[in-house]
Amino acid sequence: MAFEDVFPPSLKEALEAVQEVPTYGERGASRLVYNLMKLEPEKRLEVVNKLLEASKKLRPCKECFLLTEGELCRVCSDEKRSRKFICVVEESQDAYAIERLERYKGVYHVLGGRIAPLEGVSPEDLTINELMDRIERYGAKEVILATNPNVEGEATASYLASLIKKRFPSVKVTRTAYGLQFGGLLELADEHSLEKSLENRR
Ligand SMILES: [Zn+2]
Repeated sequence: MAFEDVFPPSLKEALEAVQEVPTYGERGASRLVYNLMKLEPEKRLEVVNKLLEASKKLRPCKECFLLTEGELCRVCSDEKRSRKFICVVEESQDAYAIERLERYKGVYHVLGGRIAPLEGVSPEDLTINELMDRIERYGAKEVILATNPNVEGEATASYLASLIKKRFPSVKVTRTAYGLQFGGLLELADEHSLEKSLENRR
């Protein structure tokens, strides 16, 4: 009997589909799909339905690219949030991690990743032109670079800093200061160190 006759077609298709998700290779897909199948059928469908709902409803905010359900996210549609401060993050989850502190009163800009030449991610793949456009339109005073504290995140921050300084010399560019206690991803940072990091920006 050939392997194709043994392997259920729906399982094959599910595994292939999940592999389309960035960072999910064959292993990631296996882990998700086989573990999902361990759930009771009812629970499993509930999980999938939530994903379906989120997939239908969520899209990037047309100003800041934060994942949101409307045309504009809640931050951009809030008149009280200052357009003079733009906090640049790699992904939506980084912005939500800062938002959870309920301290920051400016707006965000989601780059959609970081510059990573080895992975084929160049500046053109990120929302950098849109960031420049917003700095200009808003007459921003300060741009806070809150990319992740790793090699690519630092390189992306330096790249943006020099670009902004060249085009908008009067705009203050700051980088969130990270305690050595966390070299991990921004979204994993505990609230205390994240808060300190925002306060101690340089
Ligand atoms: Zn927005």
